[in-house]
Amino acid sequence: MDTPNFKAEAEALFDELVQLRRDFHRHPELGFQETRTSGIVADTLDRLGFEVQRGVGQTGVVGILEGGRAGPTLLMRFDMDALPIEEANETDYVSQNPGVMHACGHDGHTAMGLAVARIMARYQPHLAGTLKFLFQPAEEGLGGALAVIAGGALDHPRPDVALAMHLWNSIPYGKIRATPGPAMAASSVFTLTVYGKGGHGAAPHKSLDPILAAAHIVAALQSIVSRNIDPLDSVVVTVGQMTAGTTFNVIPDKAILKGTVRSYDNELHHLVYRRILEMAQNMAAAFRCQTSMETVAIVPAVDNAPAPTQVVKAAAARVVGQQNVVEGRTMGAEDMGYILEEIPGCYFFIGSMNEEKGFVYPHHHPQFDFDERAMINGVATMLQAAAHYVFP
Ligand SMILES: [Zn+2]
Ligand SMILES: [Zn+2]
Repeated sequence: MDTPNFKAEAEALFDELVQLRRDFHRHPELGFQETRTSGIVADTLDRLGFEVQRGVGQTGVVGILEGGRAGPTLLMRFDMDALPIEEANETDYVSQNPGVMHACGHDGHTAMGLAVARIMARYQPHLAGTLKFLFQPAEEGLGGALAVIAGGALDHPRPDVALAMHLWNSIPYGKIRATPGPAMAASSVFTLTVYGKGGHGAAPHKSLDPILAAAHIVAALQSIVSRNIDPLDSVVVTVGQMTAGTTFNVIPDKAILKGTVRSYDNELHHLVYRRILEMAQNMAAAFRCQTSMETVAIVPAVDNAPAPTQVVKAAAARVVGQQNVVEGRTMGAEDMGYILEEIPGCYFFIGSMNEEKGFVYPHHHPQFDFDERAMINGVATMLQAAAHYVFP
């Protein structure tokens, strides 16, 4: 069978993509609460003739489209959750749910997933293989990928390849980014508690001040990247939260620091944590305080396998032209990393920034919005890449 013109098919669905995306945008739902969204997804897949599993990892949906002939199983994953952000846009599709906003573009991802499903359903008898659509909840730091994996999303059938994409406002509309190897960082969170001895603010000599110790620790941690990491490697250490004290004239008992570490490499991650602990303990000791540290791994690096990445790049070149297919990395993190630890695949980025139209705000910004035409590029690239695996 000749490969269809997927760009034209995606373009023909543009109005529907916009309508769907705006509907999801008006009704954003936080992680593991995506009941309305996943209901629409499941009902749509049902109507298209997919075998549908609801409630995968709480609010996730799996839709399976078995082709008329045997072949590989391809997983395509789309995330559905919104963020606890008050939207500051003034569009007619602004969030109707106070304090909740699709500020990352997952409304677009869900719409694109349904468009890909709808177009692929037309070719069902001709497909050689199985398409597994995973609509994942709770990507934004809540563990949605782990939940759907625990819920069996990667079993029966086990995918041979996994693809996912993100609309991306750091890249202009018209470009697509696919990078072999680590494309997004491993991310973890640490909590350092500094214990002192409380007392009167006017009698500091009778207490052990954990705020002073914590302040020195924050400053010292910033030397880890500059003094302990090879300048050619990439690591981030950020302290984003500092909590201590109740009022101006009381020295508190303890201070709490929370931060994140990002890197592309697990060994570097371990090195950084060894240094954080050494510095925190010794710096605290210098002020006669003590520390304890807790860490939580959030996600592993998004590590793209070479072969599927090559397939995506070739597919993207068909859609936007070779000169618009780029490579690059970000220190952002994505729980697709968990899926790519189990299944080789590619996570790629669809340029959605458009300065002329004012779509310039970054992801997670209260004025985030994207060029909706980017959805055509996303749908067409996903279809084209999928065709590589399941079109005979
Ligand atoms: Zn996000
Ligand atoms: Zn996102």
